[in-house]
Amino acid sequence: MSAYDANNVFAKILRGEIPCNTLLETEHALAFHDIAPVAPTHVLVIPKGAYVNAADFYARASEAEIIGYARAITAALKALGLSDGFRLISNNGASAGQSVFHFHTHILAGRPMHALLAKE
Ligand code: AMP
Repeated sequence: MSAYDANNVFAKILRGEIPCNTLLETEHALAFHDIAPVAPTHVLVIPKGAYVNAADFYARASEAEIIGYARAITAALKALGLSDGFRLISNNGASAGQSVFHFHTHILAGRPMHALLAKE
């Protein structure tokens, strides 16, 4: 895994250097709408700490950060009115589809989502 790059786009959002469409902010996390949604609801939840991906976050983050992050996802789901019919996705590494190297979870909802992955 590469080192954390403080110039990634989500780090810039956290520093207020570029705007985002915020859903909610907590002590440990920020939730905002994806700039290129692939479903009617497409929200990203990011921790405020500098973590490359899920593997990095769950290995290094404090218990308060991990619990705070989980609670922020719960709060985002509540704010979106979602109790089911949604998908949570975190891509880890470029080969898994990760394009922004600051840990994030996608919340996707509002259209049918059947198989997890298309068969190759
Ligand atoms: P991933 O490919 O899993 O790393 O997801 C990165 C996501 O970030 C993509 O769905 C992008 O559309 C989204 N994204 C990139 N730049 C921005 C931005 N400035 N504001 C909101 N979402 C963004």
